[in-house]
Amino acid sequence: MTKKKQIKTIALLTSGGDSPGMNCVIRSITRTAIGQGIKVYGIQRGYAGLLNNQFVELNASSVGNIIQRGGTILHSSRCPEFKEKHNREKAAQILDDRGVDALIVIGGDGSFKGALALEQEQNIPVIGIPGTIDNDISGTEYTIGFDTAVQTAIEAVDKIRDTAASNDRTFLIEVMGANSSSIALKVGVCTGAENVLLSHQKVDYEKIANAIRRGERRGKNSSIIIVAEGPKPGRSYDISHVLEDLHHISSRVCILGHIQRGGSPTANDRFYGSLMGQMSIQALLKGKHRHAIVVRNDHAECVPLTDCSEKSDHAMKEFVGIAEELSI
Ligand code: ADP
Repeated sequence: MTKKKQIKTIALLTSGGDSPGMNCVIRSITRTAIGQGIKVYGIQRGYAGLLNNQFVELNASSVGNIIQRGGTILHSSRCPEFKEKHNREKAAQILDDRGVDALIVIGGDGSFKGALALEQEQNIPVIGIPGTIDNDISGTEYTIGFDTAVQTAIEAVDKIRDTAASNDRTFLIEVMGANSSSIALKVGVCTGAENVLLSHQKVDYEKIANAIRRGERRGKNSSIIIVAEGPKPGRSYDISHVLEDLHHISSRVCILGHIQRGGSPTANDRFYGSLMGQMSIQALLKGKHRHAIVVRNDHAECVPLTDCSEKSDHAMKEFVGIAEELSI
């Protein structure tokens, strides 16, 4: 398989954690490719499906009525075996046997590492499209699914605010994002949270307690603290215990969890998903073979895949103060 080969057949897969908007990307890739006379295979369950030869041919109808659906119709998975070179050799052979000229990978930085290895070692042209709710990939300001996850969390926090206010309570609401604080910070600003605890920040209990007491003095009867889950999901329980022990502040914990991964994608995720899918085919037709479609300064661009294979926390930390200033 040579890089300059004409693109007649492509395959695409979704890998790692699923995110709302992946279906928009699948639809866009499929329809753009078919419009260019390119045959399209969807590979089910990410790299695991690639190694197990789980291919389905996609046509314009197979991606109908999915633009509004969360998750991924191709399913996703984690596949540690793909980190081994002999399995990537096997994958290259399977792609070759199917006559696949290029592979499009929708996923996070781990999935991109797999795609990069496939290109570098096995000479398979690859394009990466960032799909993860965490918004934690280097080289792009936006990942598909982030906006929907934020919206879902905002709606949940608004509901919890109702009960917190009615029962005079402090709530610690833990949001997803692993080591990235992107979701926490945006949700914190958008819900008027009294505090936002970032993933790697040492918790300043004194500061939290002072803010709650200050609020109480001016008649505030409830507080919302948004906690980025960080490396250890569930850390809100520890924080709640320390607040009680050190400052006699009682709090309730709500871990939003996987609800943030599901649901109908927002306009942003649908729009960027559609745009990035279309651009991935255009990139392949222009002979790009180791690239990613990213968003920079609100514009979608095609950049080297090596820009995007690291984790990076895009939380706009300069806005941490806003949540606090506005919630006095
Ligand atoms: P994400 O893509 O969301 O970051 P993971 O980090 O779990 O999620 O990666 C998804 C999959 O990508 C892994 O299960 C594995 O199949 C593949 N992968 C991750 N890292 C590598 C690597 N260093 N080399 C090859 N494949 C990798």
